[in-house]
Amino acid sequence: MSELEGCALVTGAARGIGAAIVRALAAAGRDVVINHTSETSARPAAELQAEVEGRYGVAALVVRADVSDFEEAHRLVEASIERFGHIAVLVNNAGINRDGLLVRMKEQDFDDVIATDLKGVFNMTRHAAKPLMKQRYGRIVNITSLSGVVGQAGQANYSAAKAGVIGLTKATARELAARNVTVNAVAPGFVETDMTARMKPEVLEQLVDGVPLKRMAAPEEVADAVAFLASDKAAYITGQVLHIDGGLGM
Ligand code: NAP
Repeated sequence: MSELEGCALVTGAARGIGAAIVRALAAAGRDVVINHTSETSARPAAELQAEVEGRYGVAALVVRADVSDFEEAHRLVEASIERFGHIAVLVNNAGINRDGLLVRMKEQDFDDVIATDLKGVFNMTRHAAKPLMKQRYGRIVNITSLSGVVGQAGQANYSAAKAGVIGLTKATARELAARNVTVNAVAPGFVETDMTARMKPEVLEQLVDGVPLKRMAAPEEVADAVAFLASDKAAYITGQVLHIDGGLGM
């Protein structure tokens, strides 16, 4: 199977970093599957579909599915293969946060974040792995976070889930390497999306002040790194965590 066959399946792709990844992969000539989970994202997902089809001449499919649900993740993988024949690139981008100090954190907030941010990556990888191995080609890129590398106060659940994604990335990279499937992760610091827009401005300002490059990332800056790891220029890179954090985690 050559580089250009098969689609790119991006989870949580109706907005934020996911939408930027869809644009970057479509610009590189990939057909794309745009996954989202909420009813409110149906419209932005449809608009993104029309945008990339019109601008880049690729085909796009929108699939509403909750990646934290094992069977829905299966349906998402199956729908992508049914429409495009192969999945060449899987980007596990869907994620949520439920921030709060550990001593006050509700059990549900811990469970919800683990279910989407960690188990969601397992669910998608579990269902996509066999077809990717069988076709002897695949690029899996998982979106972790600097929080998963260094730990972030107020994010015990999120940091645990994202650290888990790094372990999952490395174990999967080892298991799938012999079949020409690479598995890497990108670890953004602070990125301008709805997720960071929900943070208290004074807290965010203080955090960004600690970034050596003194600014947040645009979603496109994360997407460009994902597009590189998804390309054949990164064919010899696997099991790695690429920081996109303005130097914050060095
Ligand atoms: P965002 O703007 O809040 O978007 C999150 C996306 O994930 C949405 O499209 C949402 O779908 C989707 N999603 C949530 N739960 C889902 C589920 N169970 N199944 C399928 N899709 C689901 O977030 P973002 O900032 O772009 O973050 C994208 C990824 O980057 C996340 O994994 C996040 O942890 C990571 N990250 C972000 C930052 C940052 O500073 N923003 C930093 C480091 C890492 P709907 O649109 O349908 O709600």
